[in-house]
Amino acid sequence: MPLNPAAATTICQIDEEGPREECAVFGIYGAEEAAAHTTLGLHALQHRGQEATGIVSFDGKRFHAQRGVGEVGDVLNKEDVISRLLGYAAIGHNRYATTGEGAVHNIQPLFAEFAFGGFAIAHNGNLTNARALHQKLLSGGSLFQSTTDTEVIVHLIARSVRESLVDRLIDALHQVEGAYSLVALSQKKLIGVRDPLGIRPLVLGRLGDAHILASETCAFDIIGAEYVRDVAPGELVVIDAEGLHSHFPFPKKPSRFCVFEFIYFARPDSLMEGTSVYEARKRIGAELSRESHPPGGVDVVVPVPDSGVPAAIGYAAAAGVPFEYGIIRNHYVGRTFIEPTAQIRHLGVKLKHNPNRAMVEGKRIVLVDDSIVRGTTSRKIIEMMRSAGAREIHMRISSPPIAHPCYYGIDTPERDELIAARLDPEGIAKEIGVDSLAFISIDGLYRAMGQERRDKAAPFYCDACFTGDYPVRLLDRDHGAAGKRERPELV
Ligand code: AMP
Repeated sequence: MPLNPAAATTICQIDEEGPREECAVFGIYGAEEAAAHTTLGLHALQHRGQEATGIVSFDGKRFHAQRGVGEVGDVLNKEDVISRLLGYAAIGHNRYATTGEGAVHNIQPLFAEFAFGGFAIAHNGNLTNARALHQKLLSGGSLFQSTTDTEVIVHLIARSVRESLVDRLIDALHQVEGAYSLVALSQKKLIGVRDPLGIRPLVLGRLGDAHILASETCAFDIIGAEYVRDVAPGELVVIDAEGLHSHFPFPKKPSRFCVFEFIYFARPDSLMEGTSVYEARKRIGAELSRESHPPGGVDVVVPVPDSGVPAAIGYAAAAGVPFEYGIIRNHYVGRTFIEPTAQIRHLGVKLKHNPNRAMVEGKRIVLVDDSIVRGTTSRKIIEMMRSAGAREIHMRISSPPIAHPCYYGIDTPERDELIAARLDPEGIAKEIGVDSLAFISIDGLYRAMGQERRDKAAPFYCDACFTGDYPVRLLDRDHGAAGKRERPELV
């Protein structure tokens, strides 16, 4: 079963350091120049993954594919590349994952030639039993060509005894556990599916007669498409010449959408669950100020750009303190957290941020950021603000402390590297060198999201990174199979 052609000669296996998927997906059916629309959609979703990108299109007779390491602008940058991707249907993927030898053969969409025809698939999320399934499939004779857990799904489809493609896919999905938003393309259908808890996002849009699936609505805006609705948790949508059909193949469960999408990961101009991410971040900032504004007062509220900006705007308005850009970000530097070595990462922080001395010198500052992971960014930024003459620095964080790794597709380091797993806020404050530090409380976060408090009876999020309450069992981790993962460092 030839999968990704780029990987044809590479032998690989899911190793102890399994891959991380923190990605974007896009799919379109029924549009002229489907690949050109997909390229634009992937460009709008670039923040979800910069390591590699790819498109598979179908023109009614043949599939066409282009994949490569790098950003969308590096891989899909020439008209002749895009015009070669013929067809009225296409799917695409941006990948954020481990660096190194896995890079090329793991680029999605994966493609397989089945007895029933060609099939392409792209995945955002992370399966929690991929390694267990992989071992089982290997002993049953399957040969793997990538180290992505997505390929496990492809093999399960191949082995299914069900007849139709949709039934085979459903059969495969009944065996996998974890978080997944998938788009898939066959000769006849575009398929989108979200895991039963809807942990990762997937939205449905329209552009004339064409149907579109994407990780976020910002991918609709760029091509002038209209947002229709979110694909529901556990829903599988099939789009073909007959239109759109919806299936619910799993027992219904309450949704557990990832709250970190609202806090950090999604683009602020996207709608998630019909809610503006930007407005949610402002509400979280306002709640943060109600909970923990320094009693002695401050002169300015300064965001750590860009991720801290909407929360800082909400904070400043609620506290009645001026909002100022006390740090200027250089937009021509890539995201520092994907830089490969510690030395470069440290350089990266300096390359990326510069204090705006006029807004900082002699001032008492509330500095707002979305999260502290290892504490590296905060330490550097605070050093920088001190050297620019800040009189007091009170750091306020628009998420609760991240004390637990994510196993569902957001890249966070192992527990021993999470500063909040080692230290309480006072200890972190000392280590990063601030005058005071406060995180939003978990109840405060839920209040900002429109509930009274964190309450299992109310609409509920996946907040495992804050609470350790993992909504899907972690089979691979608990059987020692996930091992220590190789994860890109966050800076
Ligand atoms: P750290 O320096 O490790 O404390 O990282 C904190 C910074 O990384 C924050 O400013 C966040 O905006 C950003 N961040 C948080 N989570 C992630 C993630 N999963 N991937 C990349 N960056 C992140």
